This record gives sequence, structure tokens and C-alpha cells, in this order.
Amino acid sequence: MTRLAKPRQQLKSSYEVVVIGSGYGGGIAASRMARAGRKVCVLERGKEIRPGEYPNTAVQLLKQVQTHLPDIRLGSPTAMFDIRYNHDINVVVGCGLGGTSLINAGVALRPDPRVFEDEHWPAEIRTDVELERYFDIAESMLKPQTYPDHYPRLPRTDAVQRCAESLQKPFALAPIFVNFQQYENGRNQFGVEQSPCVNCGDCMSGCNYGAKNTVLMNYLPDAANNGAEIFTEISVRQIEQRGERWVVNCVDSESGSEGNGSFTIEADVVVLAAGTLGSTEILLRSAEAGLRVSERLGSRFSGNGDMVGIAYNTDHEIRLVGMGEHAVDQEKPVGPTTTELIDLRDDNDVKESITLIAASMPGGIASFLPPLLAAAAKLTGTDTDHSWNHKLRKLARIVQSKLFGARTGATLNTLDCLTMVHDDAAGQMYLDKDRLHIQWVNAGEQSTLKNGSATIARVASILGGTFVPNPVWNEFTDHSLVTGHPLGGCPMSDNSKYGVVNHKGQLYDGRTPTSVHRGLYVMDGAVVPVSLGVNPAFTIAALAERSCYKLAQDYGWIISYA
Ligand SMILES: Cc1cc2nc3c(=O)[nH]c(=O)nc-3n(C[C@H](O)[C@H](O)[C@H](O)COP(=O)(O)OP(=O)(O)OC[C@H]3O[C@@H](n4cnc5c(N)ncnc54)[C@H](O)[C@@H]3O)c2cc1C
Ligand code: SF4
Repeated sequence: MTRLAKPRQQLKSSYEVVVIGSGYGGGIAASRMARAGRKVCVLERGKEIRPGEYPNTAVQLLKQVQTHLPDIRLGSPTAMFDIRYNHDINVVVGCGLGGTSLINAGVALRPDPRVFEDEHWPAEIRTDVELERYFDIAESMLKPQTYPDHYPRLPRTDAVQRCAESLQKPFALAPIFVNFQQYENGRNQFGVEQSPCVNCGDCMSGCNYGAKNTVLMNYLPDAANNGAEIFTEISVRQIEQRGERWVVNCVDSESGSEGNGSFTIEADVVVLAAGTLGSTEILLRSAEAGLRVSERLGSRFSGNGDMVGIAYNTDHEIRLVGMGEHAVDQEKPVGPTTTELIDLRDDNDVKESITLIAASMPGGIASFLPPLLAAAAKLTGTDTDHSWNHKLRKLARIVQSKLFGARTGATLNTLDCLTMVHDDAAGQMYLDKDRLHIQWVNAGEQSTLKNGSATIARVASILGGTFVPNPVWNEFTDHSLVTGHPLGGCPMSDNSKYGVVNHKGQLYDGRTPTSVHRGLYVMDGAVVPVSLGVNPAFTIAALAERSCYKLAQDYGWIISYA
């Protein structure tokens, strides 16, 4: 198996372009800068974990979790699932070569065009008639596709379609970054071995079949094919200016703090693509050390309006849980994590629109689920059908799940839902004792989020299930939120009074409202100034494509897209 990351001994002390992070933003910057003929280096804090190496059992999964509590971190600093606890909002991000694309569901949605009319976007974005073109470029690389007709129909699709009809809202198959085709020589256009999806349902713990189009399967190999040098297990701490160049301060990821194995790399251009949390943290630390930045650094944090909830123990077979270490049952496949959506668009006010998707859960957590879901339903659930007949059937299914496991009974019939609404993006990220925190008082009290949860409750009722709301969203936790879609922190804006970067992702230096640092860019979720109302990866990718194009234009470089 060909690995993309090079041994550390090959790392040079100077490059033309250093890209920090390797998710959508980082992968795109690396590919585009390499295709512009630049000497590019990618620095990623996590490990290179390839298809076949992703966690499939509970023990393997637990080893791949790092949890950041207010004062301590538990777990390995290179573990794939990075969970950040904050009082107001908890965040899950990915860590590894490929970033959060390794652990996402791969849903590829373009936002409602009205989202880009929001005044928080810079004028160049609001009026950019070419914006769709950047989505198209990203699409040609990430190849989203809807679940194909020649694959077996999934019972979850029937259930979600039934809900859409009952709600009188459009049902659609969601385009997903998943490959369903058999390549002639078994390799995709980037020369990477790729197989068609086998319907295991484990997309969110990493696709072991190489079917998910993560950044590791397209942009990153494209970057390497064009000469980019990729290094893993290197954490960037901060950036400083030295004359016309940038100095990137790094440490070995395992050591975690400055001093242990620290070193520097110089570059003409630095692209920060360490994700919403990572890029903001690096810049906050750099600002403490003297880098001139906008005072808005850390602002406009959004959870993309995420609200999770569960329709537990419904009257319909759903197949909630992926196969994990078990062979895929071709008669009863789970299907990719997400394949369908309900579009609850508000034609009058885009801020009231809701997108609902359903998701399977990774097979590695199968053993925890029956008792966990039963307990959550008992403690916080609301049954939507009170007939005795119904209650008896439910009880029988709960017992069945407990005795025979998560792929039977109540758990088999459970629909896991996520609604994406619009939040006010009023969260603030800040550093305290060198640790990143997020403050967003009363974030969970927003009416749109309540509407999202109420929509899941209606879905539970339509399917005859028990509605279980987000377990941390209640009065005992001050309505704390959970998101896998963090945005903001380095928001784009017309000037440094309102934002941190311009429409190209170039960092404002704060000297005048529009003056920028030459050669310092942010290209990831951190630049998105508002919630998007749909899953954000596709938008992050399109904006990164746009920023690369503008960057190359400014430097007189030509990106070969051929
Ligand atoms: C469970 C889950 C499911 C999701 N499903 C979907 C979905 O279906 N559709 C969708 O659109 N979105 C989904 N998302 C969100 C989506 O994957 C992210 O929004 C997207 O990946 C963010 O891209 P990015 O480039 O901003 O950052 P990331 O992809 O997070 O990449 C940032 C990279 O930088 C690295 N890094 C961080 N700090 C440092 C540092 N100091 N030094 C070096 N490297 C660093 C990280 O390890 C990471 O590899 C999901 C997220 C989760 C958690
Ligand atoms: S369902 Fe399984 S094979 Fe298909 S993309 Fe997801 S993890 Fe890969």
C-alpha cells in the first residue's frame, strides 16, 4: 500500500508554500499550489490511517478518541476522533491525514443561494457570479453521487420518504462523497486503489473498503503526484513574520507542547487549513506572540445549527448500526451512513429553513447501543404512541435488542436524525492557559434549534417511535449543544472591523480596515461567517478552490487544472 506521508528526515527547513492541516481546505491548497508548480509542504498533526486500518471494534474505537476537557486532554493527541468539551457547545473534529473527511458521512450539499446574500459575507462573495464554478471544480475532484438505483433499496430510505410525505416536504436522495463504481484497473483518476461501496454503514469510523471519497483518495494524492511533500504527526503551534517570509513553529504531535522536539520551517506563503478550531487556535497563539491580526479573531463561531435527536424503537426496520468487524449482510445491507434528506426550506426566510438527514452509526459501538439507547429513552424520551398493543411490541423489541444485540429489535428500528438550521454564529473562541475554549452564552436557547429538535420529534411520531432529544440539550446542562460542523473563528468579511480574512482568505493585518498580510491565508471552515443550513464540507471545499485561484492570480501563478 502506497503511503503519501514522507519520513520526517526528508522535511526541509524552507518551502515556497507551507499548508497546515490536510482536510478539505488543506488538501485543496496542497493540490492547487503543487499544480501551480510551487514547492509545497503539508504539515498534519494526525497520522496517515488508510482504508483497512480504521477502527472496527469498541476497543479499537476507544483507542482512536482524544477528549479535551477544560483543563486536561485524555487519549492520544493523534487519535482520529477529537472531542472538545465546552460548557456551551461540544465539538467533534477529525485528526489524521485527510482531516474530518476521514470520519464524516460525506454528504455533499450546496447551500440555498440565499445563504450567500447574508451581509456577513464580503461583497465579493455576495456578488460572485462564478461561485458555482468553484463548487463544480470541487465536485469534479470529490465526485459526489446519490445512492444508485442498481444498489438494493434501503429500509431507512422508505422510512425517511414516508416522513417527508407526511410532513408534506420534499424528499431527496443526498449526494454523498462515495464511490459506487468499479474502476477498470481498480484505481481512480489519482492512481489510488478504490473499490465500490459495499453498504457496510461504517462511513463515520473510516471507510475500510476505500469507497468513501475522503481527501486521502483525491486531493492529497493529486498534491503528492504533483510534487507536494506531506508530513504527518507534526503539530503547528504558531506563525511569525521574519522579513518577507513566514516562520512556522512546529512540535512533534506526541510531545504536545513547545520545547519538546520543536523546530521551525520557513515559507513565502502559509496556508492555514487546520480546521475551524485548529486555524483559530494557531492564530490566537500567534497573536499573543505579536502577530498583527483583526480584533475579531475567534468570533462568529457557529455550530452550523446542528441539532441531533433520535426516533427510538419505531415501528419500521431502519438498520441503525454499521457492520463493524462483521461481514456485510448482502440480503440486509445498512447502506452508507447517510443517503437521504428532507428539505424543509422556508421560501420566505432562509433563516427558518431546516435540512434533516438520517444517519447510521458505526458498527464499532454496536455493543454499547442497546443499553445506552434504552436508558436515554427511559430518562428523556417521549413515547409518541400510547396504545397497550404498541407498548407491548416496543417492550418485546427492547428485550430483543438487549438479548441479541444492536442489529435486532428496538435498535434495529431506530432512526438517528440530524437537523441543520441557522444559528446566530455568535460564539467566541479564546485561549486560556494555552488551551482553546468556546463561549456562546444561551446558544442552545435559539428558537431555530428548538424547531430543529421539534422536527425530529415529529419524525419520531410519524414512525411510531420514542423521541429522544439530544442528551446534552436540556435544562440541567443549560441547553448545551453538540456539533460536528464547527464554523467561524476567522470569518471572512469586507474589512477587519467585522472579520479576520478577506474574500480570498487573506489575513487582515489590522493596520487599515482592508490591509492584509502578504502570503498568509486561511482556507477551511474557520472562514465561513454564517451557518449554512446544510452540511458544510462542500462549501468549505468550494471556498478553498476559490481562494487558491485568487492566490495564484495575485502571485501570477497558473494552476493547471487538467
Ligand atoms: C461525525 C462527522 C460527520 C460529518 N459529516 C459531514 C457530512 O456528511 N457532510 C459535510 O459536509 N460535513 C460533514 N462533517 C463536517 C465536515 O467533515 C467538516 O466540516 C470538514 O471536514 C471541515 O474541513 P476543514 O478543511 O475545515 O477541516 P478538517 O477537515 O477538520 O481538517 C483540519 C486538519 O487540520 C489538522 N490540524 C489541526 N490542528 C493542527 C495543527 N496545529 N497542526 C497541524 N495540523 C492540524 C487536523 O488534524 C485536520 O486533519 C462531519 C463531521 C463529523 C465530525
Ligand atoms: S458504507 Fe461502508 S463501504 Fe460504503 S462508503 Fe461507507 S464505509 Fe465505505
